[in-house]
Amino acid sequence: MKKIIALMLTGLCSSCFALSQPKLIVQVVVDQFRGDFLAKYQDKFSPNGFNYLTKHGIWYANANHPHANTTTCVGHSSIATGAYPRYHGMVGNSWYDIESNEAVDCVGDEKVVTLNFAKVKKTFPGRSPKNLLASTFSDELILSQKGRAFAVSYKDRAAITMAGHAGIAYWFDKINGGFITSDYYYKEYPRWVSRWNEKRLYETYHGKTWRLSKAKSDYFYQNNEVYNDAYAQFGKSFPHQFSQQNSPYYFKTLMLSPFSDSLAADFAKQLLINEKLGQSSKKTDYLSVSFSSNDAIGHNFGPNSLEAEENLLALDKTLAQLFNLIDKKVGLDKTLIILSADHGVSDSPEYLASHHIATGRINIEQFIKESLQAKLKRHFKVNAPLIKYFDNPYVYLNHQAIKANSLSIDEVARFVCLQLNELNGISHAFSFKDIEDNKVNDLFLSNKVWRMDAGKRAGDVYVIPQPYWSIVKDKNDDKVSHGSPWTYDSFVPIVFASKQFSAHYVTRKVESIDIAPTLSVMLGIKKPSSSTGQALPELVSYYHK
Ligand SMILES: [Zn+2]
Repeated sequence: MKKIIALMLTGLCSSCFALSQPKLIVQVVVDQFRGDFLAKYQDKFSPNGFNYLTKHGIWYANANHPHANTTTCVGHSSIATGAYPRYHGMVGNSWYDIESNEAVDCVGDEKVVTLNFAKVKKTFPGRSPKNLLASTFSDELILSQKGRAFAVSYKDRAAITMAGHAGIAYWFDKINGGFITSDYYYKEYPRWVSRWNEKRLYETYHGKTWRLSKAKSDYFYQNNEVYNDAYAQFGKSFPHQFSQQNSPYYFKTLMLSPFSDSLAADFAKQLLINEKLGQSSKKTDYLSVSFSSNDAIGHNFGPNSLEAEENLLALDKTLAQLFNLIDKKVGLDKTLIILSADHGVSDSPEYLASHHIATGRINIEQFIKESLQAKLKRHFKVNAPLIKYFDNPYVYLNHQAIKANSLSIDEVARFVCLQLNELNGISHAFSFKDIEDNKVNDLFLSNKVWRMDAGKRAGDVYVIPQPYWSIVKDKNDDKVSHGSPWTYDSFVPIVFASKQFSAHYVTRKVESIDIAPTLSVMLGIKKPSSSTGQALPELVSYYHK
C-alpha cells in the first residue's frame, strides 16, 4: 500500500523527492553554437537529439559568457573552471609571451610529447593543461574520489581544458590522423585506443561527397549566397567533395563537414564502453565531448549558410545516437547531460548587409605598423617603438623602452587608447591599468575586459571593435568571426537534462561560469578553485530537498 501511495505521489509530483546522484555526467559543448540556435532549429531537430535535452531539461534561455574575449580556449576554460579568465589564465587561443617574445598556444607544452601510434610524417606538438591556472570541475571530482573524468574533441584545446589537470584528454591529430594524447596523460595508450585508431575510420571519407540530406527548399538558408574561397576541391557549394588520399587539406575539410563530429562521437562512445563509465553504483563519472565542426563551418561559410544548417541537422543525429548508447549502457535516467557552447557568433557580413546592418573589417596591426608607432615616437620624443606586439585583442607595450626613456606605462597606454578610439570600426580601447584604478565609466564593457586581466598574458590595452565589425590580420582571415564582448558572441545555451526531469524554461540571466559550481554543489564536493559562478537552484533542487 505504501508503495502504491509513493508511486501515486511520484506520478503527481515528479520533483517532490530528491533524485539519487547521477552515475554519469556528460558535458556536451558545441563550438560556436549561439544561444538562439536551439529554439531556431527546434522544429527541424529529431525528438532524440537536441530536443531530448529541452524536453527533459532545465533550459536557461538567457545565458551568456561574462568575459570579453569570446573564443574557444577561453570559453571552454570558463565552463570547466566556473572562473573568469583573469583567474583561470586562458586569455585566448594563444597570446604573446613578453619574456620569450613568442606566441604561446593556450594548451602548448614543450616539456611533453605526443604519444605516437606508428611512424608519423611530423609529430603533433606537445600539449597539456599547464597554462590553466585554476582547477576544473573534473579536477575536483577526481580529488573528491567520487569519480573519473575524460574529455574528447577534434580540437586539442576543447578537450584539454575540459579534462582539467587530473582528467584524461583525447584530441584529433590533424597532421597524421587519429585521436591522440600526450605523455602528460599516459606513458602508453590503453589497448582500446590503439584498436580504434588501427581501424582508421577517419580515412573512410577519402573521395566521398557531402550532400544535402533534404530538398533545398526545406532549409532556412536555401537562397543565401555562397562565398567561401578556400580548399578549391571541396567546392563553394553542395555537393562538397573530399580529397583522395595524401591531400594536406583532408583533415581540415573533414572539420568543414559533420564527419569530424561523428568521429569524435564514435571515439567518445568507445571510451564510455571501454572505460566502463557510469557503471559504479557509488560514483559519478564525467565525460566531456566538444563538437568542433559547427565552428569551422561558421567561419568558412557563415552561420547563415546551407552548410551550417545541414551540419546542425547531422549533429542532431549524432547526438541522438550518442544518447541512445548512453541509455543502453548507463541509462538516461541515471545520466545528467549538460549542453552549452564556448561562444556564439556574428551573422555573416553579407546577411547583415542585406538587412542594412553595418559591418566592417579593420586591420589594427597594419594601423600600428604604418601610423601609431610613428605617432608614439613623435609624441613621446623617443626613437624606439613603444608597442611590442598586437595579438588581437591585446596590445603589448614595449616596457623596456618605456622604462629606458623614463616614461610612464600608464600614459603610453592611455595615448594608445586615445588613438585607437578614433578609428572607424573601433568601439572602445581600454587600458587595463585605468580599469583597475576605476578610471573608466563604461561598466558593461569594462567589467568584461577586467575579467580578462590575467597580468602579462593580457598585455596593456584591450581593443573592442564596433558591433558586427571584426579585427582582422589580412584579407585571408575568416570571413565570419567571434571574439567580441557583444551579445551575439557571448550568448550561449545552458541546458541540464535527465530523463527524470520535466521541461523547465528559465529566462533569468545566468552565466557560463555557473555550470561548474552547480555541478559541485549538486555532488556536495568542493567548487573549482577560482570559481565565482552561482550554483543554479533549479538543478540542485532535483537532487537535494
Ligand atoms: Zn571559432
